Amino acid sequence: MALMIDDEHVQIIMRILRDAGEPISNREMEAQTRELLGDKWKRSWQITNSCIRTALSSVGVVSHPRRGLWGLEAQAEEKLATLEGIDIWAEHIRIRDAKRAKDAEPLAPKPAPEKRDLLTLTKKLVETWGPPGYEHRIREIIREEVSDLADEIWIDGLGNLICRVGAGGPKVLIAAHMDEIGLMANYQEPDSGYLRFASLGGLRKDTLNGNRVLFEDGTVGVIAVQDGGGKALTDFYIDVQADGGGNATPVGQPAGFMREMQVRGSRIVAKSLDDRIGCVVAIEAMRRLGRQTPNELYFAFTVQEEVGLRGAKTAAQGLRPDIGIAIDVTGSGDQIRGRKMQVKLGGGAAIKVHDPGLIVPVAIKNWMIDRCEADRIPYQLELLAGGTTDASAIQMADAGVPSGCISIPTRYLHTTSETVDAGDVRACIDLLAGLLANDIAI
Ligand SMILES: [Zn+2]
Repeated sequence: MALMIDDEHVQIIMRILRDAGEPISNREMEAQTRELLGDKWKRSWQITNSCIRTALSSVGVVSHPRRGLWGLEAQAEEKLATLEGIDIWAEHIRIRDAKRAKDAEPLAPKPAPEKRDLLTLTKKLVETWGPPGYEHRIREIIREEVSDLADEIWIDGLGNLICRVGAGGPKVLIAAHMDEIGLMANYQEPDSGYLRFASLGGLRKDTLNGNRVLFEDGTVGVIAVQDGGGKALTDFYIDVQADGGGNATPVGQPAGFMREMQVRGSRIVAKSLDDRIGCVVAIEAMRRLGRQTPNELYFAFTVQEEVGLRGAKTAAQGLRPDIGIAIDVTGSGDQIRGRKMQVKLGGGAAIKVHDPGLIVPVAIKNWMIDRCEADRIPYQLELLAGGTTDASAIQMADAGVPSGCISIPTRYLHTTSETVDAGDVRACIDLLAGLLANDIAI
């Protein structure tokens, strides 16, 4: 399609910048153009935004002195006049393709990315502390891992780490959550110093007694249960006594569970595989792409999923994607007297069809199935009776975002010994990378 330099949207952008007289934020530009363009805004914004970033900025008309800002360079008006009649969408495609061609030659111009052991990255992520709202340590590890794998990286207001890969084409938001279930000390018994606590995420009471937790200041606590109790969270307390006396850990401190990762054949046993293994899948898919994609991808490593999908909400509202994909764990039906469920460990990537928060659109489900069939990736269909993922928040953003979920089958969810199969993890990486490396026609 042709988008000319004298297009209404481009003219509006110029007028806003001229009137402002100084650089204005992305958010402000978006709000003003949205108001002026009405119904035409969404499609027009997406195209013009991409064009501005490549074609217009490359000819020096509109610049981004700092990331996220729109501004006019000196003589912008004169330069704009010389461009009249030019199809800037075509120009944008030409510049983008030239850049891709340059990036692609010779065939392996970049040093091969350091071959990393999937298990090493998984161990690092699952054993790092990061309850909901306190994901900063995980975020730093991931930021380091993806620093060469994205075109742009930033942290949004709630703490999500967002990585853009590619520009132009459909916008896809890929979400994997960084937080793990944990708790927060909320009351100290006056005589003993024992701590009472509130949950941060879905704690399973049958797994608490005797478990150890770690506070950010390094204090290790042991969870105990009152005699005859165990049904209510108020029956439990945390022993943080030192030298038989009080302790220094004040109320208001969050804690995460403690447990080392173990590997048994193809099985990985660890705490917090929910959802650090989803983060591993997203990171490895980024590594496979090597910043080459015909789409505009936003990998969001989200916060506070376990307390209500909060990070995914702000990520989706801020990015306004065309498609959403969550990467998260799901249950399995292969335990003794476990719930009836088709999914099993070793059965491949689980493609979500339904959970209590999400009915996956048929087109999204089929898009994933077709990719598995084409690339011979083992897969299974997931129907989950309890729980949901970031995808259910993403689908409700803006005017609605068709969303799906790639799930890693997991046993013993929300315990300190969650168990997954490495073959399933690889299948999930293959599927995600395959979906994102190809043109999307949905
Ligand atoms: Zn999860």
